[in-house]
Amino acid sequence: MGFSHRRCLLAVVVTAVAAVTVSVVTPVLLADSTTVAGRGVRATSVILVNGDGMAAAHREAARLYLAGFDGRLAMDRLPVSGQLTTSPRDPSTAVTDSAAAATAWATGVRTYNGSIGVDVDGRPLAVLGQRAKAAGKSTGLVTTAQVTDASPAAFFSRTADRSAQDEIARQYLTFSRPDVVLGGGEDWWLPKGTPGAWPDKPAEDPSEGSRGTRGDLVEQARRDGYHYVSTAEQLASAPRGKLLGLFANEEMFQQRPEGKGDVYSPAVDLATMTGKALDVLGANGKGFFLLVEEEGVDEFSHHNNATRVLQSMRSLERTVEVARAYVATHPDTLLVVTGDHECGGLTVENTSDTDESGSAPSTEDGPFPVHGSALRFVMDWTTTGHTGVDVPVTAEGPLAELFTGKHPNTHLHDVLAKVLNL
Ligand SMILES: [Zn+2]
Repeated sequence: MGFSHRRCLLAVVVTAVAAVTVSVVTPVLLADSTTVAGRGVRATSVILVNGDGMAAAHREAARLYLAGFDGRLAMDRLPVSGQLTTSPRDPSTAVTDSAAAATAWATGVRTYNGSIGVDVDGRPLAVLGQRAKAAGKSTGLVTTAQVTDASPAAFFSRTADRSAQDEIARQYLTFSRPDVVLGGGEDWWLPKGTPGAWPDKPAEDPSEGSRGTRGDLVEQARRDGYHYVSTAEQLASAPRGKLLGLFANEEMFQQRPEGKGDVYSPAVDLATMTGKALDVLGANGKGFFLLVEEEGVDEFSHHNNATRVLQSMRSLERTVEVARAYVATHPDTLLVVTGDHECGGLTVENTSDTDESGSAPSTEDGPFPVHGSALRFVMDWTTTGHTGVDVPVTAEGPLAELFTGKHPNTHLHDVLAKVLNL
């Protein structure tokens, strides 16, 4: 207790100094950092699950569709819940993008849209993925997006512009060195003219093709000791070591409106990639940090494509079941499920078409059946962009209770850094 008390006094001093310089340390996070109070469980690892673009209406539509009126999703059964605000610190827009949101998570600093791990003045920040690695933990990222897309990138690289995805890939190999990298985006790892395992100009999207400007990064990864895979079979038989898997040229799906070439059929599903990542990362006795992302929720919300959003939500739900099974036998691991921001201005409505506001009908999808019921519901979109509403956060494991209440999204960084003892 005496130790904790001294730390609290120190916290007051630190807070007083920090208040006039950079940022304010949140005192609640300065309790004893190694043992979870009352349970004697050492907190070592984190699984952060990002439903990109997922907020309350996405979760409720998925609950109705997959579990019904009396059902609960695995992501909603986590014992602790709260809300996160998502506003960036951008000179020209009030609503965040995935880059600024993930930078807030990875650094605890709000910044401008498009930033990957740099502040509003362009200064590189310490990012959580690299810090965890430096502390001796294993790290990994698993996504149905390109592995160098904004959300994973902000944890493992720093660049002023989120579109520099070949530079982000290069930084994975030279700066942050995650042990497991699984997802799409092979196009950024190979130079033009080197198609790789995923051929250039595929029929489903002829605009795809290798375009990296940082050399053959797949070959460099192999030289650095990564086992490289590009199929589900290769992934299943990969050894328990450093692992790079690229399962698409770009995203692991085709994001388009309904009936216009939209496809959600990843070469390897997110739950399978997550299970493999946990198998590799869990071997490190010092713990790990794993970022898991379902990107389809956001991309199909941008296209107001509710059918594919529900498919993406099912993928996410199965993934959360895998993560819950892991934490059930690993009480030192914090599991957090949230979204980086809302996308689509989505609501869940009755099937009546006499309830529209304004003079013209909005974009609606459905009706979709409520699981186990004769009733149906409609998914109504108000925008093809992001919105600034809160995102729900649910959690279980060490220090999960710190997510109770409503906090800025930078709070997620503070809790993760605490659990990882960074
Ligand atoms: Zn988006």
